[in-house]
Amino acid sequence: MIRLNDIIERVNAYLYLSDADVELLKKAYVYSAKVHAGQTRSSGEPYLSHPLEVSWILAEMKLDVSSIVTGFLHDTVEDTLATTEEIETLFGSEIAFLVDGVTKISQLPYTTKIERQAEGFRKLILATAKDIRVVLIKLADRLHNMRTLEHLREEQQKSIAKETFDIYAPLAHRLGISWVTQELEDLSFKFLNPGEYQKLSKLITDKREEWEQHVDEIKALIGSKLAEFDINAEVTGRFKHIYGIYRKMQTQNLEFDSVYDVIAFRIITGSLRECYEALGAVHSAWKPVPGRFKDYIALPKGNGYQSLHTTVIGPFGERMEIQIRTREMHNVAEYGVASHWKYKEGRLDGGGTEIYTTLRHLLEWKDIKDPTEYMEAIKGELISDVVYVFTPRGDLMELPSGATPVDFAYAVHTEVGNRCMRAIVSGKLVPLSHQLKTGDAVEIVTANDKHPNRDWLKFVVTSRAKTKIRAWLRNEERTQSEIVGKSICERKFKQHGLDFHAMLKNGELADALAEFKLKDEKELYLAVGYGKISANDFLKRVLPTEKLDSAPEKELRIEKIIRTITGTSESGVLINGYNDVMIRFANCCSPLPGEPITGYITRGKGITIHKNDCPRLLDVDDARRIDVEWDSGFKAQRPARIVVQCVDRPGILSNITSSFSSSDINISKAEIHSTDVDTAVGTFDVVVTDLAQLENVMKSIKQVEGVRSVERMLEWERQ
Ligand code: MN
Repeated sequence: MIRLNDIIERVNAYLYLSDADVELLKKAYVYSAKVHAGQTRSSGEPYLSHPLEVSWILAEMKLDVSSIVTGFLHDTVEDTLATTEEIETLFGSEIAFLVDGVTKISQLPYTTKIERQAEGFRKLILATAKDIRVVLIKLADRLHNMRTLEHLREEQQKSIAKETFDIYAPLAHRLGISWVTQELEDLSFKFLNPGEYQKLSKLITDKREEWEQHVDEIKALIGSKLAEFDINAEVTGRFKHIYGIYRKMQTQNLEFDSVYDVIAFRIITGSLRECYEALGAVHSAWKPVPGRFKDYIALPKGNGYQSLHTTVIGPFGERMEIQIRTREMHNVAEYGVASHWKYKEGRLDGGGTEIYTTLRHLLEWKDIKDPTEYMEAIKGELISDVVYVFTPRGDLMELPSGATPVDFAYAVHTEVGNRCMRAIVSGKLVPLSHQLKTGDAVEIVTANDKHPNRDWLKFVVTSRAKTKIRAWLRNEERTQSEIVGKSICERKFKQHGLDFHAMLKNGELADALAEFKLKDEKELYLAVGYGKISANDFLKRVLPTEKLDSAPEKELRIEKIIRTITGTSESGVLINGYNDVMIRFANCCSPLPGEPITGYITRGKGITIHKNDCPRLLDVDDARRIDVEWDSGFKAQRPARIVVQCVDRPGILSNITSSFSSSDINISKAEIHSTDVDTAVGTFDVVVTDLAQLENVMKSIKQVEGVRSVERMLEWERQ
């Protein structure tokens, strides 16, 4: 097992550790040993070996003291009784934040379909981490778990290796840490494709001796060539990692023996100028292979990688790949993001914690041309403008921050949006206006009779949702206007003893339609429904004036209702002839089944149901009234509000609420407050089936001792 002192020594090699730092490391080590005591790894080793190894890897990655400390503590919150609060008290908020970040990533819900969504998961991890150190610690954690993977069951090996290959190795690559990328790739390859892995490693082992000799010869040749040009440089030659060779064989369809760049030669110079000089020296000695030269110094890769790459026909007539870079570029290639960090007395210098901020460019993975731009990007903005959520099938979806379940529903499919009824987020029912967070699992419950609501426009943030809702509403308004217009025309004609539809059929209305420049009766309905043409004016073109005057105006109100709808209706209200009209209950009088009602035909927004004696009805246009009745076969669920004045004494509230429950009425909201010394006022929002039920419960509340008055409130702010 690695010892604490080994780690301290390794860290001390690249940054200065103060006494306080050493104390902190010791404290974290002791704490980790304490809380993990008695736990073992699958290998049988004490659990503590794992956090130690992780910190050891973090030191290899040359991270700061806080990261190393977090290495010791990274599994404490998830796997022991330790809490984030305790970590914060003992080690401060920065370390608590890092531990919490690593814990959160471990708890992200992975699915079996990772491969297809790997990019999304990498984004999710970066977005969850918030601080780039969290990702680096997670990589170190994964690296050690991969190194000890043989102790797990085979299926676990496969799934962890797959996740590593699809998610973590590319993440390490994105962060530019090549040694971690390569080791993760090789270890995943070993477990995912053991046959090929064994075959290749045997081939490499068999040839190793021969090659090593060859490498030494070439190194010496390159070295002397450089010396000739007076270039001060170090030359190395090393075997590519196994997976790198395998990938090359696959993509270029090569046999092992034809892979010419199994060995990569590297020239590490002291200055940028010397990189190009070294390139000149190499090209003057050996013929470059056309099309194989790449200048990643002038055009760095997206992860900040810089180097000159060339392939030449070497001294033994075979191709060899040479990479040329400065020492600094080499550090970037090996250590990635962390190589840019500058330490001052064990702490990060400059940028502070800003430097750790996970960046948008890492998510977008853009190629950045200028290395200073890369550094700027590293320091850049927080990822606050997107959230990543899961569909019930485990697919990942990117939405703008502030997005709601309705935005999500429309992103899934227009029909899901148009029919969405309820949202369940991570197992909990939430309002449709709920703002989604990264990592949420979102499920939308749809119903065929649900429709978009104008209020949705107040909270949706995606333009897709906005456009779709508006389109639906426009279309619906049109439908409603058409229905309403038709109804008004029929009535107006009937009022004068005329059959609108018969006249339409006989062509008796053709002239009048033409006069109003209406193509057909549908356009008439729309024009009347939207209020652009009055049905009366239209009628005037059809009837002689004297007949119009003598019309029996009153007949309309006493029109007989014919029930044409059978069965139950969604709203509990039956409307003569039109079962597809949108119905709303007026908030001013909130009618209950059992009370006489009248419908008011709105412009484009369906029919509003009022109580017959509602004062608002007196103001409306007679022609827009419509006879409606309650559907007796329908058990309605209607809101009502009751206000109770009573003596302020203990227990009275429970007496009142028990009246509700014995009447089988649900209370959706109750509020009680004292008005003066001995009086309390209670407001109860309830759901009732009809007027009789409401009146009954009011009667029984009145009988509760201490109750002074019970009243029904008609108009209130609905939630
Ligand atoms: Mn771990």
